[in-house]
Amino acid sequence: MKHSRRTFLKTGAAAGAVALLRPDKALAASENVPAIEPPLSQFGYGDVTLLEGPLREQFDRNHAFYLSLNEDSLLKPYRQRAGLPAPGEDMGGWYSWEPLSDIDKRPNNGFAPGHSFGQYLSGLARDYAATGDKATQEKVHRLVRGFAPAISSHFWDGNRFPAYTYDKISIGMIDAHEFAGDPLAFKALDAALDSVKQHLPPGPLSRAEQYARPHTDESFCWDEPYTLPENCFLAWQRGAGSRYREMGIHYLADSWYWDPLAAGENVLPGKHAYSHVNAMSSAMQAYFVLGSRKHLRAAKNGFEFLRTTQSFATGGWGPNEDFRKPGSGEIGESLTSTHSSFETPCGSYGHFKITRYLLRTTKDSRYGDSMERVLYNCILGALPIKKDGYGFYYSDYNNDGSKVYHPQTWHCCTGTFSQITADYGISAYFHDGEGVYVNLFVPSRVTWPRGTERISLTQRTQYPHQPTTEIEVSVTAPSRFPVYLRIPAWAGAKTTIAVNGKRVMSAPEAGEFAKIDRTWKNGDRIEVEFGMATTLEAVDPQHPDLMAAVHGPLALFAVGTIPASVKKADLLSVAQAASGSTEWKTASGAVTMRPFAAITDEHYRLYQKVES
Ligand SMILES: [Zn+2]
Repeated sequence: MKHSRRTFLKTGAAAGAVALLRPDKALAASENVPAIEPPLSQFGYGDVTLLEGPLREQFDRNHAFYLSLNEDSLLKPYRQRAGLPAPGEDMGGWYSWEPLSDIDKRPNNGFAPGHSFGQYLSGLARDYAATGDKATQEKVHRLVRGFAPAISSHFWDGNRFPAYTYDKISIGMIDAHEFAGDPLAFKALDAALDSVKQHLPPGPLSRAEQYARPHTDESFCWDEPYTLPENCFLAWQRGAGSRYREMGIHYLADSWYWDPLAAGENVLPGKHAYSHVNAMSSAMQAYFVLGSRKHLRAAKNGFEFLRTTQSFATGGWGPNEDFRKPGSGEIGESLTSTHSSFETPCGSYGHFKITRYLLRTTKDSRYGDSMERVLYNCILGALPIKKDGYGFYYSDYNNDGSKVYHPQTWHCCTGTFSQITADYGISAYFHDGEGVYVNLFVPSRVTWPRGTERISLTQRTQYPHQPTTEIEVSVTAPSRFPVYLRIPAWAGAKTTIAVNGKRVMSAPEAGEFAKIDRTWKNGDRIEVEFGMATTLEAVDPQHPDLMAAVHGPLALFAVGTIPASVKKADLLSVAQAASGSTEWKTASGAVTMRPFAAITDEHYRLYQKVES
């Protein structure tokens, strides 16, 4: 597998085939080439532009928000511990050394000081790569310049989460290097690792193992050393040095996580939800870097357990941040026992990453199906972050659900929120060195070079509020290459694909990518119409009468006056008030429904009690 892409580029270029990878990029990696190159590659952040629509809106809002963060305040917890002048206001909440009153009352003992610094930096570096906005790049460079002298080993004294915080610093620095061309970022990364080394857990300790060791209080057992390998392996691939590769190997949680998962044992129940999904991306990087098929098996099995035994109809998972025992009925019970149903920005970020890795490795379109459920039903409906650091944390699937801000400011989800919106573009399209894979149906443009020419696809759509998408091909001369379109597993027999108004495919295989291979002329239009039906999904097998209505990828939430129960046939009859509308009504008129992103401050219910 090693070097296969480079071989393709040489022979492909000679044969006049479409080379989608930038040769300079592939060759630059020569020192740090992973063992496995997955069949599908990501485009660069700058290759995909989101066009007007809800994703672009959320991307722009987050870009502007994180660009406006006060730099002195961001650096303050680090400078304070380094004995440097630390001007600027305390950010408070999770971010400062002031204690969170309900967690720990000791003075000078903040919950997770500076924890999300690296994520804000990573999000901004990716935003810069996506937009080319100079002010964003300059902010990244200023933050790295400020951080490098401010990281000291005292920063980790009494710190609950050295692995968790370092992990985020590390993605911030390697993204600043990779995407914002920061000249100091690797130096700052090295300084951060040197400072934290003696403070890190000695290995990939599980939470149970952390509880078994002497600890100050319970909250000191929540560090996440088992999530470290992904960014260590990425640091090595991006040229930070071989000690990062060694560190990645050292923190692989084989004994209690990867070995049983690889053997098909569902060890998710009882574990903290987000960090163990995030860790699955470490298993994927172990597969890429080391060629370890065990870790690929573990990630595939782990994700399948997540999808089939832990998930709500929205694609979200982990009520109260825990995984539940299949057969226990606890997911259904959570609809009355908690409002903390899915840790949305963090969970969506982890979900997008693992589905991108698995899709690139297997070409299985179902990972894209899973990603888009989380997109439309979870993250796209997150409330916008506020100036004072109040941010959206949990989606609420309680029978009396509503959208609220978390009472604590600058929490974990304010970090991942900056990264996931930056990742929307790179999640929408992939390539295999020959053709392009359309994974998300979102208003966007992807552009790639072929020799001196540029090819682009421009997608216009109101999907999933309309069951259609249109993709226009732009070429400077007629070009032959395949375009692969994700046909969701739910797509019905009425699904069709047309080019320039002429049908080229009827009822393409659902749950696969449909391949359209032809010589494209400038202005050619691909039109897809999806057979989109409504189905009902029970919350778990123990509660077969608690059902969510799902239309295509879209979960529908009852709003307004919600009846205690609804006839199954009536719930199945739910239809849009008008074409493209986000207002839905059942045939009897008894239930009004809306998708998550269209809900503001009204109360809602995801799972209805259904009578036959
Ligand atoms: Zn979070």
